[in-house]
Amino acid sequence: MSLLQKLKNSVRKRSIHVSFVDTASCNGCDIEILACLAPRYDLEQYGIYVHNNPRDADVLLVVGAVTEQWIDKLPMLWDKIPEPKVAIAIGNCAISGCVFHRPGSYTDPPVSKHIPVALSIPGCPPRPDEIIQAILAVAPIAFKDYEKKL
Ligand code: SF4
Repeated sequence: MSLLQKLKNSVRKRSIHVSFVDTASCNGCDIEILACLAPRYDLEQYGIYVHNNPRDADVLLVVGAVTEQWIDKLPMLWDKIPEPKVAIAIGNCAISGCVFHRPGSYTDPPVSKHIPVALSIPGCPPRPDEIIQAILAVAPIAFKDYEKKL
């Protein structure tokens, strides 16, 4: 193993990398996730970092009621994340479809129907501190057998 790879392993073992996907929300939950990055909650003080690329993620945050367009894409995105990995469903839309789900509608909730979800956070929207607590709660699962990941 190269020195660079050892260094990367060492750093990654001490931090949680999060990716975020919106499967059709009102953006209320998105804003609460963004608030986690702001100085008031300062997500990075806990060693949690947000990435665009799911290939770098330990934890996937999912918001939204899963529209028809996401039914195939969400499992494809999940498959791109290396093991071990954890998904958190954020907000009532991800859990039940909330205001976006009616019989015969264009949504197909819950998120757990499409990918394995370790933890769900109810709320419309949930608070930033609840989101941070959830990420920290699932971190031990994400780090299980971590050496196999890198
Ligand atoms: S749970 Fe509420 S705030 Fe979050 S996306 Fe759905 S309607 Fe918007």
